[in-house]
Amino acid sequence: MTLWQHYYYPETVEEALERLRAHDGNARIIGGGTDLLLEMQQGRKPAVEALIDVTAIPSLHTLQLENDIVEIGAAVTHTEIVKAPFMAQHATCLVESCGVIGGPQVRNVATLGGNVAHALPAADGTTALVVLDAEVEVAGRFGRQWQPILSLFKGPGISAIDHSREMITRFRFGAAAPNTGSAFKRIMRPQGVSLPILACAVWVRVAPGQDHGSPDAAVIEEARICIGPVRPVPTRARQAERALAGHSLAGGLERAIAGAQSEFSPRTSKHRATAEYRVEMIAVLLQRALPLAVRRALTGIAEPEGIGL
Ligand SMILES: Cc1cc2nc3c(=O)[nH]c(=O)nc-3n(C[C@H](O)[C@H](O)[C@H](O)COP(=O)(O)OP(=O)(O)OC[C@H]3O[C@@H](n4cnc5c(N)ncnc54)[C@H](O)[C@@H]3O)c2cc1C
Repeated sequence: MTLWQHYYYPETVEEALERLRAHDGNARIIGGGTDLLLEMQQGRKPAVEALIDVTAIPSLHTLQLENDIVEIGAAVTHTEIVKAPFMAQHATCLVESCGVIGGPQVRNVATLGGNVAHALPAADGTTALVVLDAEVEVAGRFGRQWQPILSLFKGPGISAIDHSREMITRFRFGAAAPNTGSAFKRIMRPQGVSLPILACAVWVRVAPGQDHGSPDAAVIEEARICIGPVRPVPTRARQAERALAGHSLAGGLERAIAGAQSEFSPRTSKHRATAEYRVEMIAVLLQRALPLAVRRALTGIAEPEGIGL
């Protein structure tokens, strides 16, 4: 069965939107195709008249740090994010998340735009973007609008983006400021190549002027935590964040773990893990990611861990 009849390579966002309009809901944007083509082949997404490949649009390949804002085009690949010199310092958790997605072949073609547009609560790039407080630029009939990343998700695999007339063009978030640090950790089946059992991204800002030998005593002023998949949509661990604000890890970590474990009810997945195991792993991931992010915030040194090249 033919899965599509036309394959377009527009060179501008306007041209891509015009193609979407022309096919009136019977076309689909494609980035690297690592999710979409499998879903179409397996019948989980219907055949369409046209695929509109956005990877030839130059503006979707922006990857820059300007005026303390990091901007990433939707067609930037995970490999490009991992290799960009300034990203390790300014988006450490995003580098760590993109660096473990699939294998090198997947990372070389799969895009950040596709990771977010697919709207899975386990998507690794998305998990990191949530704690970086990223905004997403969506282009459509009424122009372009920046939206908070968490407003883009309606359910597992269901994006708030209208796939028949809108597309993601860019992401942006603040560059790393003094006394801030981030980290990403996940638990994966040893033979697994697709999506984690559980992933966790954290971002912290510590009180300035602290000189502790260990991250345990440093006072955390603010924390952002995203754990997935624990709900149908990507979500912040608000109880854990509140448990940490104004406290050190020594004083707040156990309460943060208890807060996250009581706030979320992950589901059992026959391919990955039981709900009970996932709840246990919330503790393990927070114990790994939080001290690392605090240490980075205290020292200003951020060397991504565990990434594949
Ligand atoms: C072997 C394998 C391993 C994987 N491992 C992981 C993993 O460990 N972690 C993880 O998070 N993911 C994993 N994935 C999933 C996938 O690779 C990523 O989610 C990837 O980032 C998707 O990007 P893409 O460009 O390939 O998206 P595509 O497949 O091209 O598109 C995915 C969806 O997004 C839409 N879309 C794409 N670009 C845009 C845009 N600019 N605007 C609007 N809609 C758009 C498409 O219409 C489609 O619905 C894996 C996939 C494979 C095949």
